[in-house]
Amino acid sequence: MRRCLISANWKMHGTVASVQDYLEKLLERLGADHPEVVFCPPFTLLPTALLIASGSDVAVGAQNCHWETKGAFTGEVAPAMLAELGVRWVIVGHSERRQHFGETDASAAARARAAQGAGLSVIYCLGETLEQRDAGETFAVLERQSAALAGLDPALLAVAYEPVWAIGTGRNATPAQAQEAHAALRRRAGELLGEAAARELRILYGGSVKPDNAAALLAQPDVDGALVGGASLDVEGFCAIIHAAPGSRRGA
Ligand code: PEP
Repeated sequence: MRRCLISANWKMHGTVASVQDYLEKLLERLGADHPEVVFCPPFTLLPTALLIASGSDVAVGAQNCHWETKGAFTGEVAPAMLAELGVRWVIVGHSERRQHFGETDASAAARARAAQGAGLSVIYCLGETLEQRDAGETFAVLERQSAALAGLDPALLAVAYEPVWAIGTGRNATPAQAQEAHAALRRRAGELLGEAAARELRILYGGSVKPDNAAALLAQPDVDGALVGGASLDVEGFCAIIHAAPGSRRGA
């Protein structure tokens, strides 16, 4: 059965004081019955986040990692360095990394394998651009991008379907568009990881998730959670999204 997973991606936002205040409020408001929650701040804020979240059931994630364990890679962070801090998750292959920093399917796959090798769980991001959707290429793009799943451990994996045209634009995919893509990704995961693993795989939706559209998106049978950017910066909004998630496990 799949437990809903809601993850905050703070991108390049936040200060030590703001993370402290935010997480204290988040932990206060979370309550006992909630989906799995992962908080992904920038690297510099990981120690503060880990300190405040320690002993709680909010996990802390990073937004990227390198594929090598060490070496002359100025500006990069190795998966084991994150694991040593207590980080449990890492976002890999985000469209902003693909768009601005030359991330490719091959480099994202290498990062994901290395992260899992260090014991980290991976949120593997994929999704089509507007041009690709308009050209009718959405499913071909998802098939190509998801090929990387074949080399990954499903026990340490969630996939995030993030149509690029919906990220940070205020224009979310409709629940039907999200469901169609998620169902296709689950079929594809069945081919790559096996049917049993695909039934257990959490496929998150990301792209302008807000308190007012979260419930309809999360009600779709193959939408098992959300990766939330902009709306996760506000603790009240993020809590509203968490509380819009179906409480029960689904699938299988
Ligand atoms: C994201 O950063 O993964 C994201 C989906 O951003 P936003 O919610 O702002 O569209």
